[in-house]
Amino acid sequence: MGGATRSWRWLVARMMRVLLRWSRLCCGGGGRGPLGRRLRLLWSYWRVVLKSLYFNSLCNSDSMLDAVFEPIYWLVDNLTRWFGVVFVCLVVALTCSVVVIVYLCVLPVILNTYPLHRVLGHLCYGHWNLIMVAFHYYKATSTSPGHPPQERRDMPTVTMCKKCIVPKPARTHHCSICNRCILKMDHHCPWLNNCVGHFNHRYFFCFCLYMTLGCVYCSISSMDMFIEAYNAVESYRSLDLQLPGDKVTGAGLLYSLLPPGYMQSSYQTAAPQYTFRERLFHKSIIYLWVLTSSVALALSALTLWHSILILRGETSVERHINRKEAQRIKQQGKVFRNPYHFGRVSNFKVLFGVEKRSHWVTRVLLPSSHPPHGDGLTWDAPRHRTDPMAI
Ligand SMILES: [Zn+2]
Ligand SMILES: [Zn+2]
Repeated sequence: MGGATRSWRWLVARMMRVLLRWSRLCCGGGGRGPLGRRLRLLWSYWRVVLKSLYFNSLCNSDSMLDAVFEPIYWLVDNLTRWFGVVFVCLVVALTCSVVVIVYLCVLPVILNTYPLHRVLGHLCYGHWNLIMVAFHYYKATSTSPGHPPQERRDMPTVTMCKKCIVPKPARTHHCSICNRCILKMDHHCPWLNNCVGHFNHRYFFCFCLYMTLGCVYCSISSMDMFIEAYNAVESYRSLDLQLPGDKVTGAGLLYSLLPPGYMQSSYQTAAPQYTFRERLFHKSIIYLWVLTSSVALALSALTLWHSILILRGETSVERHINRKEAQRIKQQGKVFRNPYHFGRVSNFKVLFGVEKRSHWVTRVLLPSSHPPHGDGLTWDAPRHRTDPMAI
């Protein structure tokens, strides 16, 4: 008995001693014991191992966010790349449908009702506008926007592209959808399935301009026909509601409660019966007017925005960069001036490639395949610059 009590006491004393030693090792002297040192060493070792996998001196919250959103960017880029083909087919199909309706429905009415000089005016303007739209759309989609040359090492560069690992000249930006660097990049346009850059900026802007003009022209010139077609559709819709045996819904249910012939008094003439061809004609006119009016509204806003950018000598990408830069420089008490702004009229002259007065007709009002001013690598002031060089 006495031996058992002694051994129990001995066990407790031993455990207390071990615990005391453990606590001394772990916490004693603020972790300066051998175990504390080993644990701290182990922790710093794993931190170095972990950091060696991702640490970069340029790593900040922006790059971390970019890394997190990388799968979403990848998905959007790929979808835009594939939808580009669908969008181009849609533009071609919708434009062709409008042209077919104009030829089959609107033109015969114009030929039968208008005097000769107005018919000639419509024929000339309509065909000129159509040729300008088709030419600029074809050129905008098929012309390469321009890429920095891989082999040249003597060109003035500003930075390196992190994706292509090639030097980037001024105004060049990387397009993640095309997966290439684009000279004077404006934006990637899904409606063209192409980037808008140095070599096709003029074609893109002219396409927007002539498409807007064409849609406004169609919308205004078919306005009277649209009102007539709309009234006709309304009248045969109400007529259809009165026909027996038809499925009636909405307000038609109320009419169905009334006795037959109640809505039509004895002195009213019967509503005209429309043939399938007439109904198709009316619906085509409504489709034409609604489509051209809505495209005219949307595209005129886009064309206006791009006109403002050209007036300021900026691309869509530079608009954001310059705004940030202007704020930064303003804090230093200085004024930011865009180095690519050559004067309001000169900016348009540079874009359209106008070097003499006759070029306004031959290069702007007629289809022209002339190359843009400069090579897209260097940005010297053109000779018709009107204001002093900005800083
Ligand atoms: Zn690049
Ligand atoms: Zn692109």
